[in-house]
Amino acid sequence: MCGIVGYIGIEPAVPVLMAGLEKLEYRGYDSAGISVCTDGIYTVKTKGGLSDLAKKIEQVTLPEATLGIGHTRWATHGVPSDVNSHPHVSQDGKISLVHNGIIENYLELKAELTEKGYRFLSETDTEIAAQLFASLYDGDMVATLRRMLQKIRGAYAFGIICSDHPDCLLAVRKDSPLLVGLGKNENFIASDIPALLEHTRDYYLLEDNEIVLLKQDGASVFDLEGRPVQKEVFHVTWDFSAAQKEGYDYFMMKEIMEQPRALLKTISPRMTQNGISLDGIGLTEEMISSLRRIHIVACGSAWHAGVVGRYVIEKLTRIPVEVDIASEFRYREPIFGENELCIIISQSGETADTLAALREAKRNGVRVLSIVNVVGSSIARESDDVLYTWAGPEIAVATTKGYTTQLAVLYLIALYFAKAKGTLSAQEEQTYLQELEKMPAKTESFLKNCGFLKGLAKQYAKREDFFIIGRGIDYAAAMESSLKLKEISYIHSEAYAAGELKHGTISLIEEGTPVIAIATQESLFEKLLSNIKEVKARGAKVIAIAKEGNRAIEDVADEVIYIPEAPDLLTASYNVLPMQVFAYHVAVARGCNVDKPRNLAKSVTVE
Ligand code: GLU
Repeated sequence: MCGIVGYIGIEPAVPVLMAGLEKLEYRGYDSAGISVCTDGIYTVKTKGGLSDLAKKIEQVTLPEATLGIGHTRWATHGVPSDVNSHPHVSQDGKISLVHNGIIENYLELKAELTEKGYRFLSETDTEIAAQLFASLYDGDMVATLRRMLQKIRGAYAFGIICSDHPDCLLAVRKDSPLLVGLGKNENFIASDIPALLEHTRDYYLLEDNEIVLLKQDGASVFDLEGRPVQKEVFHVTWDFSAAQKEGYDYFMMKEIMEQPRALLKTISPRMTQNGISLDGIGLTEEMISSLRRIHIVACGSAWHAGVVGRYVIEKLTRIPVEVDIASEFRYREPIFGENELCIIISQSGETADTLAALREAKRNGVRVLSIVNVVGSSIARESDDVLYTWAGPEIAVATTKGYTTQLAVLYLIALYFAKAKGTLSAQEEQTYLQELEKMPAKTESFLKNCGFLKGLAKQYAKREDFFIIGRGIDYAAAMESSLKLKEISYIHSEAYAAGELKHGTISLIEEGTPVIAIATQESLFEKLLSNIKEVKARGAKVIAIAKEGNRAIEDVADEVIYIPEAPDLLTASYNVLPMQVFAYHVAVARGCNVDKPRNLAKSVTVE
């Protein structure tokens, strides 16, 4: 969601900004723009993609600037249009500003500024910030920004340049992501590391309300009172190729295929001779034994992982678990008690709703353990304990390796807690540990042999409605499978608890309606068979997902996709694989932009 890039150095700024914005395209956007600064501010912006922006830039003659800011916008206030695109320039032409987030009191500020004679060209909340900065400007950029932040409410990452200071790039963040890239004779800002990785591996990760003034030869950080803040350099060790397509048509397929490696990195370092070790988390055995309740809070696929987590944790530890959607949780005045734990799940670690839920839990004195992919992200930093999913950068908007590694961490937590509570026999523990160790290899063998799904996807690519049913953990897997299909192929699909269909939804089943039945829970298999029979009796075409060796399913389903044999509690990790691949091929067959589905953003940094 929205990308910011800023550059100050000795190279021409435009190519650096454009290349950085391209790396942030995966986040989702609807318009783009840049401003550069020499003796004045020069801005080019447009509705549409970066290729539209590049064309527009070619048509004007921009000066050879070495300072600039760039932005890809995901509209919140005002339609995607040229004029609403960022950067926004103040009325006097001196200030140019890019923004990610929402300024909540923008109407109030707009009224004040209008009274003072300021006029606005766009419908955005952001233009108010540009004008406000200009109205408060007294020659000192940092002091002006400090005054501006006292007046603004909401979430923001800002990049600001001023024609009086062609040697300065100013930035700040609160509740929206922004980091500083440190180079030699050049410095950068960006929403995410991949934007800058070809230039530097050294970063300052900004905390909320930290202001940074970048010059060609350094970056100084200040707090809201203007006091200098000492920052540690965060050094990135992962490979640049991790953020490249490497021969795949889409990042999504590359990331599907990376799952075995990602799972190995997530699971194997946490397996020791004495069972599971959870990299230095501060939760003690006593704390775990006395846990009365766990709240799992997340959004989207991470929430689906949480639903699987509930089944697994409750079953193995007997600790009651509640799973909430973050945007609901934070406003429903959740009831917290003594000895509770909140597990927060977010791939990006920047999901605005999830971050707010984390803060709500902490305000109530509840310990927070987070499951995050992006190292050093806001959620990781604000949690009491973090378990990273070492999946590497995930670029495709629809998550694949992010989700399966989240599941892996949830299994590790469940087994670790079960051991601490003594709710699992040594024999059972051993079985699960061995199964977890085998997970990367089993995932790999499935993915190597799933070419047949392309043909199946072609057969179904023109359908407009799917139902995906399952019971227990298979129902949780159905929700994630359904989301995969909806997100990237725009096919309407509903995930249903199989036993619930007859309470209404079965009325939608007619001759030829595709129903995907996930049938991997042995204890619920017979019940699910009855549900398959019910939809077959109404004309449904049933594709079943079952464990290898289950021949009974072939009598009732039209097609069967076999996943590797595994204990019932771990099947969600395998059930989702065929659905990732199926959804991918359906989307490709329908001509959809798989990595950047319409209206969606990768890291949802607004509420
Ligand atoms: N609220 C701003 C707008 O609508 C910023 C959106 C963004 O983060 O891209 O222009």
